Amino acid sequence: MNKDTNKHHLKLTLFENGIDFIERGISYVKGSRPEDLKYAIMHLVDGIELIFKYRLSLEHWSLIFENINSANRSSFEQGDFKSVGLEHCVQRLKGISSIIINEKDEICISKLKKHRNKITHFSINENVDALKASTIDVMNSLFIFINNNIDTNNLSKNENEQIKNIKLILLDFKDFVSNRMKTLQSQITYYNDLTSIVQCPLCLQQTMIINKLSLDITEKSKAITIEGRGTFLEENVDVDPDLCECIFCSHKGNGAEIALEYVNNILGENSYTAAKSGMYSLNYCPECRRESWVAMDEKEWICFTCNGVYEADSIINCFNCGNPMPHTEGDSFYCIDCHEDMRYKTKNKLC
Ligand SMILES: [Zn+2]
Ligand SMILES: [Zn+2]
Ligand SMILES: [Zn+2]
Repeated sequence: MNKDTNKHHLKLTLFENGIDFIERGISYVKGSRPEDLKYAIMHLVDGIELIFKYRLSLEHWSLIFENINSANRSSFEQGDFKSVGLEHCVQRLKGISSIIINEKDEICISKLKKHRNKITHFSINENVDALKASTIDVMNSLFIFINNNIDTNNLSKNENEQIKNIKLILLDFKDFVSNRMKTLQSQITYYNDLTSIVQCPLCLQQTMIINKLSLDITEKSKAITIEGRGTFLEENVDVDPDLCECIFCSHKGNGAEIALEYVNNILGENSYTAAKSGMYSLNYCPECRRESWVAMDEKEWICFTCNGVYEADSIINCFNCGNPMPHTEGDSFYCIDCHEDMRYKTKNKLC
């Protein structure tokens, strides 16, 4: 094998391994044991990482070393080196290879990675429905990445076959999701009249019902059924009544928990990005005072606890503390807290 063929071969091995991992990951998504989900996520993330590394290696093989200064040809050929992690790999692809990975793709990738970390380090609390639905999203992003950035003519017949096979399995998942969505349509219409429905941070479907529990309590005349625990009267229930629940994957949590997950997983923001950009879409609600008021988009702000919905146009920043607050003509330009603070100071001065 001459040097060029050898180089080509090594790069293809990265791609081949990546596709292998993804194919195996997807076959685990179809499994039903809890450990199948764990393997599915780990394999999918490893596969995506390898495909990104393959693309990076097309620029230069040394770029897939974690520490480029320690890159040497023989360690690369033997595969004996610590390779770049997913985040840095994406950064290098964007910075060095000028590859366009859009915001949505990045959110998908970081979400899948978060799933893996969570599952590796903590307990398994995901479910098959959520994983199937979110896998479609992540794989769509990966295929867009492959189409835009990798010349499939350079791939082997086997690899092209594997890609085709993965797409076929994804079609099954898509059917599953669209059939489930059809069966949920009447519930969606019902809750839509009563509250806000937002995208679920776990399965990514537009099926997370804000305040579902309190609506169900009212609906069922003060009696609610908790999965695995039976039916209770409202006063005997030791759960937070502001519980949000996804009717697609049953993921649930109180308003503040789901709002935080939404901001992390759907909007792709966290304390690190907030410190860097000064932008954070999670705020304290002016009504219920819980940290669950989310700037959804340029149109709307919704509180995941009390379902307060505000037009983005009506939000201003308090002239004193800078916190966001709703404002209509004639209102004060100071938030309630600052008002109380000022009143307290004035009163003390007067005393
Ligand atoms: Zn869900
Ligand atoms: Zn609220
Ligand atoms: Zn203020």
